[in-house]
Amino acid sequence: MEIYAHHGVFPEEKQEGQFFYLDAELYLSLHEAGITDDLTKTVHYGEVCELMKETFTERSYDLIERAAEVVVKKVLLAYTHHTTAVPLIRKMTLNVNKPHAPIPIPFENVSVQIERGWKKAYLGIGSNLGDKRKYIEDAVEKLKKNELIRKVRCSKLLVTKPYGGVEQDDFLNGAIEIETLLQPMELLTFLQQLEQEAHRERKVHWGPRTLDLDILFYEDVISNDPKLLIPHRDMQNRRFVLEPLNELCPCYVNQLLQKTVYEMLKELPD
Ligand code: ATP
Ligand code: CA
Ligand code: CA
Repeated sequence: MEIYAHHGVFPEEKQEGQFFYLDAELYLSLHEAGITDDLTKTVHYGEVCELMKETFTERSYDLIERAAEVVVKKVLLAYTHHTTAVPLIRKMTLNVNKPHAPIPIPFENVSVQIERGWKKAYLGIGSNLGDKRKYIEDAVEKLKKNELIRKVRCSKLLVTKPYGGVEQDDFLNGAIEIETLLQPMELLTFLQQLEQEAHRERKVHWGPRTLDLDILFYEDVISNDPKLLIPHRDMQNRRFVLEPLNELCPCYVNQLLQKTVYEMLKELPD
């Protein structure tokens, strides 16, 4: 699409504007529409174009990176299948081209390309202070309320003995499956915000807490950042993680250990 807009760092760009060229790819199942010839079973590309144009011209941004991000999020959120809560568009790539950028040497084009989509993640949740069940239920409600999180599915909650040698009350533990548009670090930040809202205090390592939310898996991502280790590094030693997880996704593979959740659970000593 060719769209006239006012993005750019320079004041002239914001005032005068220039032509941008957007190139989008939408990923969705075409099968049902292919069988029924029914427009409502697929994405109306005319409407997507309108929405993209409207979003792209609504405001002026310094960066095409930002403009791309805003457009993609808008489209992905608009095309969610309301009846089943399955996203109708599961992934989108967007190219934003700016061939008239103010660069004082001959050039053909500058562009950014981003890809965003709904990612599956598994979370561990636990509490052993105060009204444990309430802390967990409140956190699940807040996950559901976040528009960047969909398809929240919870395991049963288990009462478990504390882990790590600190003398403390029993835990209530569970696992949660979600789909999210948040990147791993953004997801961790949101989970830590929920812990804060449950008035969690960090005193003793592995000590008592009102709420603990860990990322167990995020798609097939392997992260070695100490602030965010994915898959969670100690899951294979924890029955209170593997049992609820096994209820949600027994066949999910831990890419570091090359073992399914079910295999890790079976290999735990009694
Ligand atoms: P454990 O992670 O062994 O279950 P814990 O949950 O008690 O221990 P916390 O005090 O909640 O540990 O978190 C300590 C730090 O761990 C956090 O600040 C966070 O940056 C880091 N961390 C690393 N990997 C993860 C992960 N996969 N999920 C959540 N936090 C993580
Ligand atoms: Ca933990
Ligand atoms: Ca934690």
